[in-house]
Amino acid sequence: MLGANLPGFGMENQTDSALSNLMKEVKKYRKIDAHVHAYIAPNVGPEVLLDYADRMGITKLFISRPISHDEAPFQEFRDSNDMMIKVMKQYPDRFQAEFTLNPLHTKESLEEIKRCVDQGMVGLKLYYQAKINDPLFYPILEKMIDLKMITLMHSALVLGHGSYRAKYGNIHPNVSTPEDFVGAAKRYPEAMLQVAHTGGGGDWEAAYKAIKDYPNIYIDVSGSNNEGNMINYGIKYLGEDRLFFGSDNFYNQSVSNILSADLTEVQRKKLFFDNYNNMLKKGGYNVD
Ligand SMILES: [Zn+2]
Repeated sequence: MLGANLPGFGMENQTDSALSNLMKEVKKYRKIDAHVHAYIAPNVGPEVLLDYADRMGITKLFISRPISHDEAPFQEFRDSNDMMIKVMKQYPDRFQAEFTLNPLHTKESLEEIKRCVDQGMVGLKLYYQAKINDPLFYPILEKMIDLKMITLMHSALVLGHGSYRAKYGNIHPNVSTPEDFVGAAKRYPEAMLQVAHTGGGGDWEAAYKAIKDYPNIYIDVSGSNNEGNMINYGIKYLGEDRLFFGSDNFYNQSVSNILSADLTEVQRKKLFFDNYNNMLKKGGYNVD
């Protein structure tokens, strides 16, 4: 072939085979995405998610669509849940939908949990209308304990012990910090709580240290930053059973951060699949 002996020609082939080996490594591990959103933007529909999921070997995606503004009418939460139910029913083998609610409205929230569970939803995803240890959440967490389902809460792992900047900075006043999760875990040791996206930036070292003694607090390592050593640091403090793979719609980074960590085969399998599935097993919602 013309040019086959030119410098660089063989390199391209090498790069292709390195890439195909890498993708084999990626696909070798089946995965549950413990934190991902459908319709987080109008064009992020199920087919977009499945395109990424197929390439990354993600078998099941736990989708949600939380509402971030405080004063949204409750109907907006219902509509959002209906969108997730529709996606789940369209591709029931691939998507499991989680419900969202506004804890400022207790009666409507409890009714919405029942409606969503009746529709086959599993798990709660929250934003920052109230902190996870606010008394407004007590009846909701008690219901989640009855259902043996996890509560995934948006978090801010802001810098410094005691999340100094969350208290005194310009971050949303009601965002949950690791210390807020500890407050809820102490009151409800039977509740299963998931700290969102330690890969999203911030002081994950302080977060892991804060939650280490509370085995009912799990974390997902999703996010867009994914700093080096975050995974191994998490295992050092939490052990190998409390970390979940999740993408938060940053698929490549979240997969590669686990693959590039210093893990055994068993630990890789636990993070990508088994840990979340074992949590699901407690309520009989496991995916295999
Ligand atoms: Zn998210």
